[in-house]
Amino acid sequence: MAQNSSRAAGRHFLQIPGPTPVPDRVLRAMDTPVIDHRGPEFSKMAKKALEGIKTIFKTANPVVIYTATGTGAWEGALVNTLSPGDRVLMVETGQFATLWKKMAEKLGLKPEFIETDWRVGADPNLIEAYLKKDTGKEIKAVCVLHNETSTGCASPIAEIRKAIDAAGHPALLMVDTISSLASMDYRHDEWGVDVAVGGAQKGLMLPPGMSFNALSPKALDAYKTAKLPKSFFDWEEMLNMNKVGFFPYTPATLMLGGLNEGIAMLHEEGLDNVFARHDRLAEGVRRAVRHWDLEIICRDPKYYSSTITAILMPEGHDGDAFRSLALDTFNISYGASFGRFAGKMFRIGHLGDTNDATIIGALAATEMALSLAGVPHKKGGVQAAMDYFISQHAAPVRVAAE
Ligand code: PLP
Repeated sequence: MAQNSSRAAGRHFLQIPGPTPVPDRVLRAMDTPVIDHRGPEFSKMAKKALEGIKTIFKTANPVVIYTATGTGAWEGALVNTLSPGDRVLMVETGQFATLWKKMAEKLGLKPEFIETDWRVGADPNLIEAYLKKDTGKEIKAVCVLHNETSTGCASPIAEIRKAIDAAGHPALLMVDTISSLASMDYRHDEWGVDVAVGGAQKGLMLPPGMSFNALSPKALDAYKTAKLPKSFFDWEEMLNMNKVGFFPYTPATLMLGGLNEGIAMLHEEGLDNVFARHDRLAEGVRRAVRHWDLEIICRDPKYYSSTITAILMPEGHDGDAFRSLALDTFNISYGASFGRFAGKMFRIGHLGDTNDATIIGALAATEMALSLAGVPHKKGGVQAAMDYFISQHAAPVRVAAE
């Protein structure tokens, strides 16, 4: 907010990697009278949402919609498929992988971590080698994040599936798509994922408060023998009621209308175009960061995220102080820093209902804030991003008429 003022003019630049700005169309779709969640109008809307969300996960199998944040869907994935004391393989890509592991411990599972320095995604070769050593096939699930929001490192899910198969291992594959769904290519059935965890507040462009479990036949089989206690997150009653367009409890009725609108918007743009837009915006941001001579946390381009870029602060400069200066001066929010990068980075989200011009505005605010904060950098990062966007939109060369 501007100094000495109680009002910040103009629109806030919400450059956190979710929740993302909710488009007016989605807001309007939710701005309706509340309806009976046991009535015919609701059933029609819910059936549409339950079918629509399958097209986003690219699955023919059921998707469970929870009235809960992404953390709830993490719990749903674990409690519906696993039993107390089960071994689970996870990869320490960053803060969110660490939190999912902590949850697994609290639930009575035995998670094991493949450690990283938080600057890469999950390496399929390491997963394969780890599983090959498990000759007794005791590991029941491999849990990875498609996109680690705390560091901006993505993981190659199709290759991880191949690695599990190459090890001849029967473990379930569970994937957190919370900050990749509807922004980065994700193919639930084709990639052979057993349970995907999704959230509403990022690529789907909804407010927080709704989350998903996309399933596979193998996950539904695992449900039959899973012994972890479950109630609210239990799939069975949910799936039975969903068949007729209802829920076992009062769901987030208005958000389901918003979800239908968000899905419609994604298909109007075309999912491939949505992914290409996110790739382009991410590359523009990285070009600016490189020009500034700052370091991108993700240290190997093959793991680059298309939804968030985490930027290391130079020695002696605090990432959180920088974030608060940028907020106070330019009304822009960045993602906070966590864990081993606490105070040492800031994160620019570039996902959801956003475009080249918004990202250029965000980068301009960032470049100004770097100057004001006295962070050493080479000016001109915004121009580097603009040049890249121009090159991506360049009109085809016209041949002069004869
Ligand atoms: N997983 C990832 C990758 C996330 O980015 C987040 C939140 O940002 C979560 C899990 C937790 O989701 P929620 O905060 O909606 O509970």
